[in-house]
Amino acid sequence: MTYRSYKYRIYPTSAWYGKSFVKIDRWFPSSKTCSACGHEVDKLPLAIREWVCPVCRTTHDRDHNAAINIQNEGLKDLYSFTSDEFADYKRGEELRPSCRVPAVLASSVKRLA
Ligand SMILES: [Zn+2]
Repeated sequence: MTYRSYKYRIYPTSAWYGKSFVKIDRWFPSSKTCSACGHEVDKLPLAIREWVCPVCRTTHDRDHNAAINIQNEGLKDLYSFTSDEFADYKRGEELRPSCRVPAVLASSVKRLA
């Protein structure tokens, strides 16, 4: 299945089941952005599967880190979070009432400490 056919199949299927489908920017740097602090490294060759953030010293599995960033970017788009609001949310602070995240999603957001 090509990416194009996948995209056009998943959207109606998501709607059918009452789920949300959020398409993020294809150039969003999901792999080279630290999911803990938000720092973006300049380069991250594909051969590097694990890396350490030079700012917060968190060790990342490349794919797991990218998955967290993609989920968080989708949540920001879906609930119209600003980056500051989402940073607050990750720190455990309350959001404005219009930004309520369903409990099933909230439990999967990686919060700091
Ligand atoms: Zn970091």
